[in-house]
This record gives sequence, C-alpha cells and structure tokens, in this order.
Amino acid sequence: MATTAAQQALPHENDTTPAEKLSVFERTQDVIRTALARMGYNEAYYELLREPLKLLTVRIPVKMDDGSVKLFTGYRAQHNDAIGPTKGGIRFHPEVTEEEVKALSMWMSIKCGITNLPYGGGKGGIQCDPRTMSQGELERLSRGYVRAVSQIVGPTKDIPAPDVFTNSQIMAWMMDEYSRIREFDAPGFITGKPIVLGGSAGRESSTAQGVIIVMREAAKVLGMQIAGARVIIQGFGNAGSFLAKFLHKAGAKVVGISDAIGALYNPEGLDIPYLYDRRDSFGTVTNLFDNRITNQELLVQDCDILVPAAIENQITETNAHDIKARILVEAANGPTTKRATDILTERGVLIVPDVLASAGGVVVSYFEWVQNNQGYYWTEDEVNTRLNQMLIDSFHNVYDTSRASRVDMRLAAYIVGLRRMAEASRLRGWV
Ligand code: NAD
Repeated sequence: MATTAAQQALPHENDTTPAEKLSVFERTQDVIRTALARMGYNEAYYELLREPLKLLTVRIPVKMDDGSVKLFTGYRAQHNDAIGPTKGGIRFHPEVTEEEVKALSMWMSIKCGITNLPYGGGKGGIQCDPRTMSQGELERLSRGYVRAVSQIVGPTKDIPAPDVFTNSQIMAWMMDEYSRIREFDAPGFITGKPIVLGGSAGRESSTAQGVIIVMREAAKVLGMQIAGARVIIQGFGNAGSFLAKFLHKAGAKVVGISDAIGALYNPEGLDIPYLYDRRDSFGTVTNLFDNRITNQELLVQDCDILVPAAIENQITETNAHDIKARILVEAANGPTTKRATDILTERGVLIVPDVLASAGGVVVSYFEWVQNNQGYYWTEDEVNTRLNQMLIDSFHNVYDTSRASRVDMRLAAYIVGLRRMAEASRLRGWV
C-alpha cells in the first residue's frame, strides 16, 4: 500500500509559501491562537490550549510468535478535560509520532466542542505495523498498551476508540483487559466495540453518515440538493466508499472516485454498487481499470461537490484556482492547506471543514458510551435520528458564526469548538 490515512497528519513539503510549510500540529496551533483572539481571550488561554495537558509515552514489551520479545512505543495524549473526560481513537501505524498524536488530540477537542459533546479531546497511537503481525501478537500488544496506560484512562477519565488500522476486535481485547484490571465489567471504557459487547448500532458507517448530513445542509444554503448533484470523492476506504454508497442511494451522481493508485471519472456517473463490491480491504479498486486518471487530475474535474476522503494536503495553492466544485466537504483530516482555504473562500466555495465534516464518528462513539452507562440500547434508526439532529445543529452553528463574524468556515469551526472549553477552563480557575 502506498500512503495511508495514518500519514495524513505528518508534515508534507509540497507547498511553496512559508505558511504552507507548517506541520499540521503548527497549523492547528495557528488556528487555535487566531480563534481565541477573535473571541477576545488573552494569551494565557492560548498557552493553556496550545498543547495537550497530559502526554504519556510508554514502551510495551510483547512476546512475539517466534519467542523473541519486541518493545513497541505508544502514546496517549489528553488535550484538555475541563468539559469532561477526554475522548479519541488509538491508531496502530509504523509512522505514529508524538507530534501527530498531540495534534490529533487537539482536533478531537474541536470536534467534541462543535458537536456539543461533554468531552475534551484525546488520542493514542502505537508505532507498529499491524499488517505484518499475527492476531496473537496484536492481542498481546493491545492488552499491553491498556496495562501501560490504565492509570490515566477509564470511562470517566479518557475513553479510547478505533482509528487507523484498529478495529472492533482490538477494542474488545482492550475492554476485556481494562475490565480485568479493574475487576468489574467496564464497557464504557472504550467505544467502537462489537455490538455483542456493547457496541452501538450504526457506528461503522457513522463518519460517512455524518459527512452526508453536513453536505446536505451545505447544499441547502446554496439552494442546491443532494439528489442530482455531481460529486467527486477522493479516497475509497472506510469513509469514501460508504459515502459513495450513501450518496448513490440518495440520488446523487458520483462522477469521480479515487484510491492510492489512481482515479476514475465519468461525467455520466460511475457504477457505485459495482465499485463498492469490488474494492479491497485497503480501499483500492481503480487497479481494475485501464482508463485511470491521476488523483490530481480528478480534483479539478467538473463537479458540484468535492469530497477529499483520503490523505492530507491534497488541495493547495497550486490547484485551488482550478477546483470547479461549489462545495468542498473535508471528510479527510487536513486535506486543504491554509493558502488554499483562503483562495477557495475568496472564490466563494463553501468549505465544510474536517473538524465538522468528519465528526459523525465521535458523535456515535458518544452515543455508544451513553448506552453503556445506561445499559439500555438504541436501534440504528434512533442512532441516526439523533446523529442527524446534532450534526444539523452543529453545521448551522458554524455556518452562522462564519457569517456573523465574517470569518471562513474553518476559523468559525474553531471558534465554536473552543468556546466551551475556554469558558470551562476559566470557571475552573485554570486560567
Ligand atoms: P482508509 O485507509 O480506509 O482509506 C483511505 C483511502 O485513501 C483508500 O482508498 C486509499 O487507497 C486512499 N489513498 C491512500 N493514499 C492515497 C493517496 N496518496 N492519494 C489518493 N488516495 C489515497 O481511511 P479512512 O478511514 O477512509 O480515512 C480517510 C480519511 O478520512 C482520513 O483522513 C481519516 O483520518 C479521515 N477520517 C476517517 C474516519 C473514519 O471513521 N474512517 C473518521 C474521521 C476522519
């Protein structure tokens, strides 16, 4: 596999201006500083929120199948818990870094703030390549990580979830390990579990569900509709392929899709059910076709709505002038650089920023935790109805803030996302 979703938060060097050379972590700090200043908070608030409050680095010894012992480095970052426990996924990837985990925990704070969840942001990661490990090795690593971080996590402290290359089986092992350490059943310790162990209906496709909800609202404010809209989706993995399926069902014309190998474009619309059934587990499908174009060519093809759902830094000052879409919905994390955001905003393209567009996953994770705490479980329809309402409210809150404060949608999202956290920190006397 070429570049993976885990590499999205690593710094790339493909832009030219100094501001564009900032890493994702630095870019996040930059927007946090600007958003706090716009709300009138002084520098002390920025000092509090520019880094996670807690970062634990652990080394986990794992007995490998060949009898050797290997040490894996893992992290857990907790950005700020003024609102409530922290929440965010754990990724398994060879290129996980401390800086990446820190930045991702800060994004989680913004997502939870925008959607009004009673959480701050958290994130974890382990440097490993799960594609080369046996199930037994993965289980021992997952349990070892929980033992290593058990003092700082828990249902009322910090609640993990799946992320890149982690899944419901890994969540099940982690939940079991935590329950054994604490000597009571603790389903609310982690979300993204299998349904039989307290997982929520609708969790698997929740990110794509969320994307389509905010896309529908964005279309409405421009007097457009999803039905009949021509949509291009970059990336055909978990987020992109579910989204393509939902859009197809909703009557949209998906005219372009892509993966790490290349892209397909047909102005008449692609056969999404066919592509969905033939994708592999890494979200690759274009290898089956000869008439591929490149990812960069795809992004500037004619369409109404463009959805980057692959990796970071895809829309830059180099191609922002040529994007044809009227709406850009960022399902991927960090797909658009700062300069490209400015160019698109000046051109009147409505941007639904990543921290809003991909918040469906954490909202349904929250629902899972609520159901675990109550011991009472909802139907998929109930989950989707509540998700729908929360994301519609979140979209309009960000959109209205953007209009009222005359700022772009990304800055508006950070203003909305940070407001409660800054206020809660002040009331607790932290700043
Ligand atoms: P995934 O690994 O399942 O799929 C990634 C897709 O991107 C694959 O189709 C892959 O072939 C493609 N891709 C990889 N490198 C590429 C490249 N260089 N150029 C073009 N395409 C490339 O990942 P995912 O879970 O679908 O996540 C995609 C994006 O959405 C990431 O930025 C992720 O952080 C974000 N996101 C996902 C979720 C979720 O629940 N899945 C939640 C929030 C945000």
